[in-house]
Amino acid sequence: MAFSLRGISASSGIAIGRVHVIDRARIEVVEREVGPGRVKDEIARLRRALRGARAELRAIKRRIPADAPSDVAGFLDAHLLMLDDVSLTKATIACIRERHCSAEWALKLQRDGLVEVFSAMEDEYLRARKDDVDHVVNRVQRILLRGDEPVAGEAPRLAERVVVADDLTPADTVLMQHQGVAALVTEFGGPNSHTAILARSLGIPAVVGLRAARSYLRDDEIVVVDGRDGVVLGDLDEQLLEHYRARQRELKRRRAARHELKLAATETLDGAPVALHANVELPADISAAKRVGASGIGLYRTEFLFMNRGDAPDEREQCRNYTNLVRRLKGAPVTIRTLDIGGDKQIVGAAPRIGMNPALSLRAVRYCLREQDLFRAQLRAILRASAHGPVRLMIPMLSNVQELQQVCGLLDECRAGLRAEGKAFDEKMPVGAMIEVPAAAVCADFFARHLDFLSIGTNDLIQYTIAIDRIDDEVNYLYDPLNPAVLRLIQMTIQAGRKAGIPVAMCGEMAGDARYTRLLLGMGLREFSVHPNALLEIKQIINQSEIHRSEGVTRRLMRSVKTSTRAALLEELNEPASA
Ligand code: PEP
Ligand code: MG
Repeated sequence: MAFSLRGISASSGIAIGRVHVIDRARIEVVEREVGPGRVKDEIARLRRALRGARAELRAIKRRIPADAPSDVAGFLDAHLLMLDDVSLTKATIACIRERHCSAEWALKLQRDGLVEVFSAMEDEYLRARKDDVDHVVNRVQRILLRGDEPVAGEAPRLAERVVVADDLTPADTVLMQHQGVAALVTEFGGPNSHTAILARSLGIPAVVGLRAARSYLRDDEIVVVDGRDGVVLGDLDEQLLEHYRARQRELKRRRAARHELKLAATETLDGAPVALHANVELPADISAAKRVGASGIGLYRTEFLFMNRGDAPDEREQCRNYTNLVRRLKGAPVTIRTLDIGGDKQIVGAAPRIGMNPALSLRAVRYCLREQDLFRAQLRAILRASAHGPVRLMIPMLSNVQELQQVCGLLDECRAGLRAEGKAFDEKMPVGAMIEVPAAAVCADFFARHLDFLSIGTNDLIQYTIAIDRIDDEVNYLYDPLNPAVLRLIQMTIQAGRKAGIPVAMCGEMAGDARYTRLLLGMGLREFSVHPNALLEIKQIINQSEIHRSEGVTRRLMRSVKTSTRAALLEELNEPASA
């Protein structure tokens, strides 16, 4: 009988293939002491294993296809760097020396400590980095224990297969793409793990976090993986299999058509122009944004420049970084968001303060207004970059107009200072705010009066409106962009912008989710900022939409209380325009 297993969607797409279960038992390391006379040998053993792990990763790196996105190599480089990090090398050696424990056990202790630090982080992306620590330590431990064969040894059997594993490292993922796997299904990992990010970059359908997948799925059985919905279906009859084959063909056709959209204007069928920008965090995203023809950068998350380092970047370094971004965009607008840090996203050089609930604590603009020297350096750097091309400055997490006035006061001070020093900047640089706290959405009209643009941050707006921590698995089921309260706040913000005659964008994940594109158009949104990977799909939908039709269905959806009615109306919205 047909069955379906639900996991977490990590990379969309449909795959049909035979299952290949990778049954690597999790490595069990037992506490073992070595005699004082064996400490030196144990350290040498660890060093050999670290060298072996580096050699393995370099060999995998050499096999990355030439056309793979640059972040594929980036992930392997991150693991190579981790292998050289003092917390895994010197600290593990010190542990062997002091506690006379085996290399495996010393590594396990280091791993546990690092995983604890990463697990406590508020930021979902950083929290997922604990998987990297796990992957790197596992690789070294396997060498120490001369454990199972590396995945590379299984090469011939993986073509066209749906690989089912407990967890996969980014390196495994690269190798599997090389071997032509059809899809990936893992028992662990979340949608922000490196493996999930890589699967998206490489276009492999993937479902993660499907608990006990290896107990339910048998080698060689034929399954369908629906990466978008995060499900694996088995025991399907010929009619259902044909249904999924047809969906697969349709997706392939649409993907090919999308590529040709790169240079096309973004405009609805009834002629409404829409701005389609890209969100950027890491340098690799800039190339990706250019590759898909983004019309600008709608969100540059500057905190990544401040993290994972021993000191905060000074004005000069920031100015160089922002100017470089502006130059690379060659005249397209660049929206630079001021530092969104706080809670447990700490940076060196500023006093850390962690509240009981970091999401409600000293974050983003609240933090910057407390650490004004740090903030001034960033404001000056952004102003100076504006001399080289169109820059828009965006303030995150505002919750009242007084905060905005304080920022404007500091900006005036910075402008006066730069003028006195004879340093160039754009006197008319637009200043905008993220609307991501319900208080700001309700009073969006107040903010709109003082600003040049607004941008809706749905990731936070949803968490604060529904009162659910966006990284807490226990309440994740409530995270719903269609919640009527969320939709009303979005609409209020769009209307406030319209009334004040300023543009309103959306840069949260909702903007990059194709299910909501027409709903947002129907609500009046005309500026989207999305991850580069999602950009062409969103453009395709916009270009096949009719505003007047979207507006009608959206009005009905906004009035409906029942979840099932809203879902049905969303489906109606997403029917092909000609239907
Ligand atoms: C948001 O909150 O929607 C947003 C874009 O900001 P971040 O995800 O960086 O908090
Ligand atoms: Mg946010």
